[in-house]
Amino acid sequence: MVAAKLIFNLSKKGSDKDCEVRDLIEGYLAGLSKYGNIWGEFVLSSKKKGFQAYTYLSHPNAMAKKYQTKHTKKDLENIYEKIGENPKCEILGDKIDRTVPKWKTESFLYIFTHAFDFTSPVCLGSSGKALPIYFLPLSAGDRERAYFWASSYRDHDRIWLSSDELEIPAYKQMVEPDSGLSKKGRKICDIVEKKTGIPTYYFLNRYWGRIENEDNRLCPRCGSEWRVEEEIAPSKSFSNFAFQCKPCRLVSCEADSFEDERHARIGEYKLKKSTDTD
Ligand SMILES: [Zn+2]
Repeated sequence: MVAAKLIFNLSKKGSDKDCEVRDLIEGYLAGLSKYGNIWGEFVLSSKKKGFQAYTYLSHPNAMAKKYQTKHTKKDLENIYEKIGENPKCEILGDKIDRTVPKWKTESFLYIFTHAFDFTSPVCLGSSGKALPIYFLPLSAGDRERAYFWASSYRDHDRIWLSSDELEIPAYKQMVEPDSGLSKKGRKICDIVEKKTGIPTYYFLNRYWGRIENEDNRLCPRCGSEWRVEEEIAPSKSFSNFAFQCKPCRLVSCEADSFEDERHARIGEYKLKKSTDTD
């Protein structure tokens, strides 16, 4: 991730800093954010000869046209038509790492985000680093789907952290494998795995745990043992998950709190009653 300034100069004769130009630029930047070229928010301001935006790029090459979708390229054409120039990108900072992540050699990927994250939800198994999503062979629709899932997950996480009326419903959405939020996330895992050929896991959070037998909890989806015997990633990495179910493509962490057994049952495997399968 790098900080950058995007400069939109009005070069076309008669072009003006009107609302239409500003709207076009805002729409273009919002598209770049939705499709993963930009991470997080942007700040747009006017300057003497046009506009400038400060933002974070997901990688120094994030503005290259080959990484943009047909939608943002179309927006760019409309901006060019209006102002007579393509935006200039100025990378801010001294030491710029231009290395392209070698994701093709990863043994696994996983999707994950949290309330204070604004990067890509697709992470490298070896390091836990967020991978700019445009490096993957995904369609614009896939990128959009990942963006909206991540936005929704962050909203749920913020609601849970606020410990207000919706604390428990929001927590359930994040820890139960068949919640609406989890189903959408697992669908993204399916797509990424299908298109990359790399096993892609869905992360299930675990906050409240049991004082006894917590290590022996079962995969909440299939009921199999899923405690990891050997490290699945470097030990210092977040991706060195304590629980992993390969058939279900689920990973999870150790619990943080052991003070509320009532809540520990949330997200645990539940034996289906016979009537459920009738
Ligand atoms: Zn399982």
